[in-house]
Amino acid sequence: MLETSLREGLAQIIGVSTTTLMPHDLPKAYDPAAIEDHWAEYWVREKLFAQPTPARDANQGLDGQSLTILLPPPNVTGNLHMGHMFEHTESDILIRWRRMRGDQVLWVPGTDHAGIATQMLVERQIASEGVTRQQMGREAFVERVWQWRQHYGGAILGQMKRLGASVDWSREYFTMDEKLSVAVREAFVRLHEQNLIYRGAYIVNWCPRCQTAISDLEVVHEEQKGHLWEIRYPVIDTDGKDTGEFITVATTRPETMLGDVAVAIHPEDERYLQLHGKKLRLPLVSRVIPIILDEWVSRDFGTGAVKVTPAHDPNDFAIGERHHLPSINVMDAEGRINAEGGAYAGLDRYAARKKIVADLEAQGLLAGIKDHTNNVGHCDRCKTTVEPRLSTQWFIKIQPLADKAIAAVKQDAQGNKAIRIVPDQYEKVYLEWMENIHDWCISRQLWWGHRIPAWHCSACHKITVARVDPAVCAHCGSEKITQETDVLDTWFSSGLLPVSVFGWPNITAENRGDFDAFYPTSLLVTGFDILFFWVARMIMFGCWFAADVPMPNGSARSLTDSVPFREVYIHALIRDANREKMSKTKGNVVDPIEIVKTYGTDAVRFTLASMASPGTDIAFNVARTEGYRAFANKIWNAARFLFMNVDRAAEAGIKVDLNTLGGMPIFDENASLDTRWIITELHTAAQLVSEELQTYRFDKAASTIYQFFWGSFCDWYLEIVKLRLNFETDKDGSKAALTTLLQVFEASLRLLSPFMPFLTEEIWHAVYDGASPAKSIALTPYPQSGYDAHTERDLNALVEMQLLQELISIVRATRKDAGVEEKAAIPIEVRIAAANRALIEANAAIVEKLARVSEIRFVAELSSGLPKSSTSTFDVAVVYERTVDVAAERERLAKEIAKYEKGLLSAERQLENEGFRAKAPAHVIEGLVKQEAETRLLLEKARAALDNLNKGR
Ligand SMILES: [Zn+2]
Ligand SMILES: [Zn+2]
Repeated sequence: MLETSLREGLAQIIGVSTTTLMPHDLPKAYDPAAIEDHWAEYWVREKLFAQPTPARDANQGLDGQSLTILLPPPNVTGNLHMGHMFEHTESDILIRWRRMRGDQVLWVPGTDHAGIATQMLVERQIASEGVTRQQMGREAFVERVWQWRQHYGGAILGQMKRLGASVDWSREYFTMDEKLSVAVREAFVRLHEQNLIYRGAYIVNWCPRCQTAISDLEVVHEEQKGHLWEIRYPVIDTDGKDTGEFITVATTRPETMLGDVAVAIHPEDERYLQLHGKKLRLPLVSRVIPIILDEWVSRDFGTGAVKVTPAHDPNDFAIGERHHLPSINVMDAEGRINAEGGAYAGLDRYAARKKIVADLEAQGLLAGIKDHTNNVGHCDRCKTTVEPRLSTQWFIKIQPLADKAIAAVKQDAQGNKAIRIVPDQYEKVYLEWMENIHDWCISRQLWWGHRIPAWHCSACHKITVARVDPAVCAHCGSEKITQETDVLDTWFSSGLLPVSVFGWPNITAENRGDFDAFYPTSLLVTGFDILFFWVARMIMFGCWFAADVPMPNGSARSLTDSVPFREVYIHALIRDANREKMSKTKGNVVDPIEIVKTYGTDAVRFTLASMASPGTDIAFNVARTEGYRAFANKIWNAARFLFMNVDRAAEAGIKVDLNTLGGMPIFDENASLDTRWIITELHTAAQLVSEELQTYRFDKAASTIYQFFWGSFCDWYLEIVKLRLNFETDKDGSKAALTTLLQVFEASLRLLSPFMPFLTEEIWHAVYDGASPAKSIALTPYPQSGYDAHTERDLNALVEMQLLQELISIVRATRKDAGVEEKAAIPIEVRIAAANRALIEANAAIVEKLARVSEIRFVAELSSGLPKSSTSTFDVAVVYERTVDVAAERERLAKEIAKYEKGLLSAERQLENEGFRAKAPAHVIEGLVKQEAETRLLLEKARAALDNLNKGR
């Protein structure tokens, strides 16, 4: 009780809430579930990752020391999947790392209103209540969607909170928010004023289920088995009578013949020369249609005659434009035949198809039916077969915007790029798409979204586009105006996000702080799948609209400063363990939330990071997560070992000054080898991690930390330092050792923190036993290497330790081979150069402890008959009485010799290969030469041992 109240008192003094106080008596077992919820909630509640608007001028010249990332907004309907978790892990590692380095960081979260997806979801919901949206009416339906969003929307952000994403929650946006809607309206009106928005009849991909136009990008093509119907169209004479001749056309959609307005043939197709200028009678409809000549028609395909249906096929639409043909739309919005279809009116498109084929057959006009595999477009949202259909839509004239967006990514004359795309292979993909871009159809026939701010006048039939809802027509003053029913494509609003979240278009002298501080953003981390949907559109809109915002000093904004982000990092795809794409139909989807429940967030994050290298897809394997769970457990146990010793020290009246923690430990000349070594290793690891994160090598950075923490720190250093913790007999020595131990451990936690934020937060607070110097480890300095300042003595520590490690490892292996009982301490013989002998003598205690050696005998020649091993620097034997099985030993040596010979041969072959030598980097060649020499030495030793064995007996 007393202890608890002391902690609370302390908490009040240092201004930290009591829940953050972790006593260092950690529970015995590492249980991520027990610590993660708590910290996730704490980070959000304490607003630790909020980045307020910097004071004016404070942000000048911060470029390079700031990192601003806009979260690709998940759909408000969405749930977190592995791809999200991967993307968030990469972003969060960068953000946490740079925050700890003292940079100004901001990661902005939000959700997208997701027009089609959300509308579909709510439509399904009201359908279960027996109501359609049409019965409900537009206003009530939209109100219902808002209610849905209020109660269920944005679940994914809750998941992000739980997974510890260090975003600034105070800046959370929703693309339908008032602030962002103002930007959408301004962008539309401005583009309209600039004559870059027009309305026109165009063939669009129509989803009869969603009843809206959808973009090319939202159509999923799938091979499907279908038929090719061949239909005979009778040729007629000038009086309109059948001549008895026919032209046969082929189609995969016979129902569209109801809208045919011509049949096209190639002008030089010899089969049809006699038909030039003739007319045809369209079967079933009896419309007279012309035979037209068009070079686009391929003579080799099918019969060489093509039916032309401008209202239902993009190619036919183009032919229709060239030949000034009418467009006859024969389908309504739900995919039923309309009044234009005569006898078939009212039939669903597939029912009409059946009847039409039957009728044609009855009239002897069906020439044949062939099996045919075709590529059918489906609605990405609802999987309904898309119907190409003529409709009136709103478009953006894309050219001037696309030109800027190309210039922003292409290298300029000075060799600079305003936007860098990483990995750079995607730059080409982006430019190719942008150079062939079509006008962007921005209207959608939905109710949920930003309604187009255009009003139709029924008096003069002109359109009024306005920033403020008009009461009368701007052209004739009539009050008979009605607002356009279409809404804007969802990507119109998300394309504006980089400007709109920072206040555009209302950038005034007073409120431009955010825009000045955070625009352009530094980096976009995203997937390839939305490169065109979103990334390209943000670049177009950013370059276009930000260009009009003057720089803080009033000067004009260049293209370089108009871009929405300076760099785009396209991350890899997550596949299953067998490298298959995850899909619901295959049933191989890994749910990140389930994996997190089993292994903890930190282990899953570490798995993702450890596999993340630019341009390489990830085969997610839960076995690795299990391994990283063990890694977390290892660190947990190391912490417990440390705290146990802190308590033991305290009992002996030794207390480490916690104020000496929190920086980068350094050592003086007199420090022990293990101290010099572990500190040097820490500096080296810190240096590497920083270099690796700068180039998005999350995998290498994770591996560096893993090897340092598990290998160097836990496996070696902890074992060695135990020798120095003799609190009763050596107070000064053990205090120094314990201090180094705590300093290195605390710094290692900070090094690991961006990768495993929960585990490190928990243990870090425990290190300070309730008196943490900051509210979170995430707000402490990242370990930065002072490696350059150390150099030679650091390298010495590494080289010396390496020799000790080698000796210990070989003694352990030799003991094992010789069958020495595990716990038995036995003498060893070592043959080694005098210079190295001193090193081993000075650190004999370490060798004795770690290799269970009772005595180290330095000898000129190893005694014969002992189990022995050799390296290029020393020979070692374990003094162990055993009956030597000569045959077995001979076999072992023979195997060893064969192995060395093989290794030598392969090294020689490589070194003799001129092509290899020309291409390989110098250090690789050097390494090979060294390895070859070492192998040769080992081979000689093994041969000598075999000789001795043969001579001895
Ligand atoms: Zn659909
Ligand atoms: Zn008017």
